[in-house]
Amino acid sequence: MPSHLLRLATVVLVAGAVMSVALSAQSSRALDPLDASGTVTYFIADGEPASAYRPSDRDLATWALQAWERSIEGTLRFVSSSEDEALIRVYWVTPDAGLYGEMASITVNGRRGAAVYVRPDAEMGGEVIARQAQADPLFRDTVVYLTCLHELGHALGLAHAGDFDDIMYFFGFGGDIPGFFNRYRMKLDDRDSIPRVPGLSTSDINRVRALYPRP
Ligand SMILES: [Zn+2]
Repeated sequence: MPSHLLRLATVVLVAGAVMSVALSAQSSRALDPLDASGTVTYFIADGEPASAYRPSDRDLATWALQAWERSIEGTLRFVSSSEDEALIRVYWVTPDAGLYGEMASITVNGRRGAAVYVRPDAEMGGEVIARQAQADPLFRDTVVYLTCLHELGHALGLAHAGDFDDIMYFFGFGGDIPGFFNRYRMKLDDRDSIPRVPGLSTSDINRVRALYPRP
């Protein structure tokens, strides 16, 4: 985990569970969009040994990338590449990271890229979310998928939003966080439904389209 990132811990009281939410300081302000002039390469790592990563989590990150790609309507195309060449790099981190996820800007061959760190377990969400994730594997995948979607939104240049409907909503603003995940979970019949349910609000889509306008 990059040490230069300042982490702010915010305590949110949700449904009787005390939840610790951390974010990188840079997530609260707008970032530059990715350099869309060429191919936008991505790399999804294997999970760190002590993380709760499952090989199938690779699908969740890929589906999150594709959801953003479709929302931008072809202005950006993501292509898988080696780690060294990847503009977007997804890493699965261990629980001691103490957060859902994090994004750090990187520079790859002079272009703005992003390293995205996702914690592939639901323990970080507090007791209510962890208990539901244990009972319902699809809820666990929901938490990991939506975390990928949120952090990849930062990778694309989006800052936090204050509207609870948006994937870029910041939990530090409060609200029913289990409900945030459940509204998505309730749209799923099975795991294969995830790529058919993007999880982006109209506002998320409008904001990302403004960053990547059609020529
Ligand atoms: Zn964020």
